Amino acid sequence: MPKALVVYSGGQDSTTCLFWAKKHFDEVVAIAFDYGQRHIVELDAAKQIAKEANVALNIFKINLLSEVSHNSLTDNAMEVETNQPDHRPPNTLVEGRNMLFLTYAAVFAKANGIRNIITGVGQADYSGYPDCRNEFILSLNQTLNLSMDYEYQIHTPLMWLDKSEIWQLADELGVFELVRDKTITCYHGIAGEGCGTCPSCKLRNRGLLKYLKSKGNG
Ligand code: ZN
Repeated sequence: MPKALVVYSGGQDSTTCLFWAKKHFDEVVAIAFDYGQRHIVELDAAKQIAKEANVALNIFKINLLSEVSHNSLTDNAMEVETNQPDHRPPNTLVEGRNMLFLTYAAVFAKANGIRNIITGVGQADYSGYPDCRNEFILSLNQTLNLSMDYEYQIHTPLMWLDKSEIWQLADELGVFELVRDKTITCYHGIAGEGCGTCPSCKLRNRGLLKYLKSKGNG
């Protein structure tokens, strides 16, 4: 099977994708971005896990993303919203992030003879991030193919999985404990079970409890 490139962040979702990719492709490389995120420890987690997975990780700096707009993930002066607002995405949304990441990933992939790109986005636990939706991924895939005259295939193994099913997938891939203990999903940059109160921690921990409960009953 051919080579694949995983868009990687050191979080639960992209780590599950990293090991999914290792199962489905002969050769896996990863790409991560330093985009001015407030918690650079995410990248330390990414480096450590990639090393353990024996996957080469390429990290690139794209600081412009935090300069052209403001959100609570890159702007330390902004508080992370803990409740989901009614009529707009939460202020943790980094506008354009997935499009930019996937575009840079595609340029890197073509330069390295890779056609398969894997991203951990999904819309089952839709938190108001428009660039996590399947419709967007299909559209961007087509645009990237046209823009570089190259047949990319963007894979989204988590697209229709809720958080408990993502835990289940990690378990099936044999990396449940690694994902639970070493990934960073928390908006406050705390590894493992995190702060427990930010929206990302709540979603992650709720999914974990649901999965453990279903496993216990099964
Ligand atoms: Zn948290």
